[in-house]
Amino acid sequence: MVCGYLRGVSDVSGKRILLASPRGYCAGVDRAVDAVEKALDLYGPPIYVRKEIVHNRYVVQTLSRRGAIFVEETHEVPEGARVVFSAHGVSPQVHEEAAQRGLSTIDATCPLVTKVHKEAVRFAKQDYDIILVGHEGHEEVEGTYGEAPDHIQIVGTPDEVDNVVVRDPEKVVWLSQTTLSVDETMETVRRLRERFPMLMDPPSDDICYATQNRQEVVKTIAPQADLMIVVGSANSSNSVRLVEVALDAGAKAAYRIDEAAELDLAWLDGVETVGITSGASVPDILVREVIERLQSLGFGEAEEVRTRTETITFALPRNLRQALKREGADAEDATGRRTPGPDHTC
Ligand code: SF4
Repeated sequence: MVCGYLRGVSDVSGKRILLASPRGYCAGVDRAVDAVEKALDLYGPPIYVRKEIVHNRYVVQTLSRRGAIFVEETHEVPEGARVVFSAHGVSPQVHEEAAQRGLSTIDATCPLVTKVHKEAVRFAKQDYDIILVGHEGHEEVEGTYGEAPDHIQIVGTPDEVDNVVVRDPEKVVWLSQTTLSVDETMETVRRLRERFPMLMDPPSDDICYATQNRQEVVKTIAPQADLMIVVGSANSSNSVRLVEVALDAGAKAAYRIDEAAELDLAWLDGVETVGITSGASVPDILVREVIERLQSLGFGEAEEVRTRTETITFALPRNLRQALKREGADAEDATGRRTPGPDHTC
């Protein structure tokens, strides 16, 4: 399929662009960004946001210009002010701190992260040792860990499995961060199961649909790509994973960039086919600008490579929906029925 809106320079050189689909915004990011925008509309600035609402520089800068104030910790929010918790989730301790400071909170934690939190709480109550596969220091992992710190240990890589110590090898369960490499996580789990044959799996996949779908299409494109460009920020776990997945799947080279201006012309030497994708927190305008930059350098129309069609959406946080309803916002906002995020089809 040729992407109509991207037609520009005709392809005289045979240089191709393969455009991944799905790519970019997932349902959780769309909801979180929308929550901040709706809060700004409803209450007016400033709206405080604890941590980056999603890990994307452009999104944070755009919301900042509209009056969002990003802080690292809850104690930086003035008492009684309104704060949005990011899509990555927060620990119960953060909720407690916010209550102590009298903050009005809007919790934009992705429902798929909340699902992992609930799993952690449930298995901790049953006194399991919980192995949380994820990256120490990542906000999502901090939030999940905070649900049951006495029961959870974090394992970042397959090699770290050797360091795991549990109380009862027959009562161990693994959970994971939502944005990991599927293949590396399965290797970590294989190593865990070698050590703990009775290891229990999560009730359903913790690596979310959006992460899996974006990795799947990259695996399809990568073997044809001399170069894979992943649009996404350096602190975006799923974007960084897409670079690794592309290289593992056969791309000759792969780089992550925040925006078109970071495209290094040296990467294009001898390149005939460029694959392009973007992380789950990336607005499609940034991808379009990369495509336009490539077209200005002689690449042809973008050919869409689609492996899935995503239709999932999440309702806005409940208290924001109720507030919108009270203010007579349009029916879609107030009922929580939302149209899917940015459509990446052509
Ligand atoms: S990447 Fe997955 S878990 Fe994270 S916000 Fe998107 S849908 Fe939710």
